Amino acid sequence: MKLRYCRLLVILVAAGLLTSCARDPDAGKLRVTVIDVGQGDSILVETPTGHAMLIDGGGSNRDDDSDPRHVGLRTVVPYLRYRGIDHLDAIVLTHPHADHVGGLPDILREVRTDAVLDGTALPFPSPAYAAFLTEVRNRHIPYRRVVRGTHIDFGDGVTADALNPPPGHPYGTATDNATMNNYSAVFLLTYGKTHILLDGDAQFEAEQNMLATYPNLRADVLKCGHHGAANSTSDAWLERVRPKYAAISCSRTNSFGHPSPATLARLKAHGVQTYVTAANGAIVFVSDGRSVKASGTVTK
Ligand SMILES: [Zn+2]
Repeated sequence: MKLRYCRLLVILVAAGLLTSCARDPDAGKLRVTVIDVGQGDSILVETPTGHAMLIDGGGSNRDDDSDPRHVGLRTVVPYLRYRGIDHLDAIVLTHPHADHVGGLPDILREVRTDAVLDGTALPFPSPAYAAFLTEVRNRHIPYRRVVRGTHIDFGDGVTADALNPPPGHPYGTATDNATMNNYSAVFLLTYGKTHILLDGDAQFEAEQNMLATYPNLRADVLKCGHHGAANSTSDAWLERVRPKYAAISCSRTNSFGHPSPATLARLKAHGVQTYVTAANGAIVFVSDGRSVKASGTVTK
């Protein structure tokens, strides 16, 4: 009986080793996950040599959770642990709305972070954003603003370039939702011949500004702006970017009508294969530098 138990243990250990060896077929590639944080955004970038950058931390309610702060602890941190990440090279906040910043204080408390990049272009008084800044200050984490031209080189062939917000205040100085959305940090990831464009909550105005600045912009993957809202992902934007895949991050029961049928229709008209977290759970894009593969079934 004892022997049998030992054999079983050996088999289990061997199986465990095999599982951990086979666990990451994406090692050595660029892997971008649009994490299912309900209504909000949180995107994990993992580079071929294991650098990790988190863009936004979610924050609005999951369908089953009345406390928006819980998404950092209940969803994002467990996903980072699942990916074997105990340290982030950087956290990027695209803009200070609660559905992007709300989860970040908990994430900063749980995961060592080397740098924080903040796309917030205007003073924005809100409890969620203040809690984030307090946590960054308390932890003495190097902090800088993101502005067009901000360039990150991970040293393994992956770069991230900020296309938005432009310097100054071209979208005005009001702090209404649309204006703050337009100031979102937008990052273009490049690995070899492949590009992944992460739009934050950028709306039509920001798209127009970027269209005027980047005539050769193109990407294999577009993380659509503003959760697939009707005022984002214009025809002109899709014509320029020509993505093969699109990702939309939103919850099943959001009160905003995300994703908008108009946006979905535009994506369809441009032949874009579109994934929505509300339907797919986490969406994973993997690039080997030559092409990108998409998968929509990780967490659900
Ligand atoms: Zn948002």
